[in-house]
Amino acid sequence: MTGYDTRRRRMLGGAFWLALYVGLFLLPLAIAFTYRDHPRRAFWTEFSVALGFVALAMMGLQFAVTARFRNVAAPYGIDIILRFHKQISIVAGALMLAHPIILFVTRPETIELLNPLTAPWRARFAVAATVAVLALIGISVWRRRLRLPYEAWRLAHGLLATAAVAFALTHVELVGWYVDLPWKRALWAAMALAVIGLLIYVRFVVPALLLRQPWVVDQVVPERGRAWTLVLRPVGHPGMRFAPGQFAWLTLGRSAFAVEDHPFSFSSSAMDNERIAFTIKNAGDFTRTVGAVAPGTAAYVEGPHGAFSIDRYDGNGYVFVAGGVGITPMMSMMRTLADRGDARQHLLIYGAPSMDDLTFMEELEALPDRMRLHIVQVLASPPPDWRGETGLIDATVLGRHLPADRTAHKYFVCGPPDMMDAVERALRRTGVPWENIYTERFNLV
Ligand SMILES: Cc1cc2nc3c(=O)[nH]c(=O)nc-3n(C[C@H](O)[C@H](O)[C@H](O)COP(=O)(O)OP(=O)(O)OC[C@H]3O[C@@H](n4cnc5c(N)ncnc54)[C@H](O)[C@@H]3O)c2cc1C
Repeated sequence: MTGYDTRRRRMLGGAFWLALYVGLFLLPLAIAFTYRDHPRRAFWTEFSVALGFVALAMMGLQFAVTARFRNVAAPYGIDIILRFHKQISIVAGALMLAHPIILFVTRPETIELLNPLTAPWRARFAVAATVAVLALIGISVWRRRLRLPYEAWRLAHGLLATAAVAFALTHVELVGWYVDLPWKRALWAAMALAVIGLLIYVRFVVPALLLRQPWVVDQVVPERGRAWTLVLRPVGHPGMRFAPGQFAWLTLGRSAFAVEDHPFSFSSSAMDNERIAFTIKNAGDFTRTVGAVAPGTAAYVEGPHGAFSIDRYDGNGYVFVAGGVGITPMMSMMRTLADRGDARQHLLIYGAPSMDDLTFMEELEALPDRMRLHIVQVLASPPPDWRGETGLIDATVLGRHLPADRTAHKYFVCGPPDMMDAVERALRRTGVPWENIYTERFNLV
């Protein structure tokens, strides 16, 4: 298949899932407002209810959006999906709030429904759903400010989302006005079952499948930059095929049903499916324990995921711009290119605070013997005898080393968020077209 065919297929895939998404979130609205056996209500009442239905459908669909379906994520990339998930949650929250506010403004007597002592159960469930959604948005937007540990946030996020949808569905059922016909009831029940099905799929089916494909830690190798490489080998299965630059969710030691898993890019060559490696920097509660993992520890690898890969974008050569541990997906791509005997000329620009932070430094220095790779190292605090670039990767450094024809290459950028923003801007300023720049952000959530 040519690069054009692949791009076309991806665009068609993207358009298909988007159309399905829009269709599904409008479906409850269509169901509610067709074939009614009761009179129409005032325009603003109907309008506010319509917003409520759209909000509910968007919330229900979030379970599908975040279920890590590979086919759905493939055309966009998981970072775009998660960004979409965050933004659409805020839209759903706003629509959900607009629903009662319009009612209160146009029919002031309905404000009584806010009194939990006198309100009917249908109103209590509506209030509970709204509170759950607002709490969900609040803990997600202000997670760092609230100093919520990631795992506690993730648990609370899952519980609040499930509660919000369950409360909202109960509210719709108790109001009854729009779900009065048996076929409408059946469709609503099907939608509720679909949400429950997605929860069962994510929490039980995926881990059960992982249990059938266990891995074991073979080696734990300390690396420069406060990092360790975990080398895993498959137990009783042929391993995992992945595209270089992709990532997987890793669970260590415990059961595949553990709630805690973490995303890491493969750092090994995609040409070896039986010995995969993740290189993990000490960045918090879980990652600081990686150095102490004993060989023989069980591991579960859910993936591969992601669109950040040379196998997706063909070019005359690749330019990799990495900062710190952002070198991991690049390492997988470069090792793969070397193993494939790739003959094109490539460039790596690698920034780090100091020499001790240059993860893979020794192997990188040897890589040009195996492939046509030029390496530029950029150190913020270089040793006195340093002859490479110093400071940060900026437009000047890029301008000195980028290939003369900026449009013929594909550019991969991964590193700390500030570095990525600066490099993306600098690449554009030096004449690289935006559609040739691909990024992987480790701070997805
Ligand atoms: C696509 C992708 C690829 C990545 N590849 C690598 C890699 O190759 N090497 C590497 O060292 N790091 C990588 N990371 C980052 C790595 O996932 C986090 O550093 C790690 O999960 C932090 O966990 P912690 O418990 O040690 O830190 P904590 O102190 O608990 O959290 C630090 C921050 O890391 C993020 N984080 C924590 N847990 C998770 C989780 N389960 N899922 C998503 N984010 C989480 C949160 O934003 C959190 O605020 C990658 C991240 C992504 C999204």
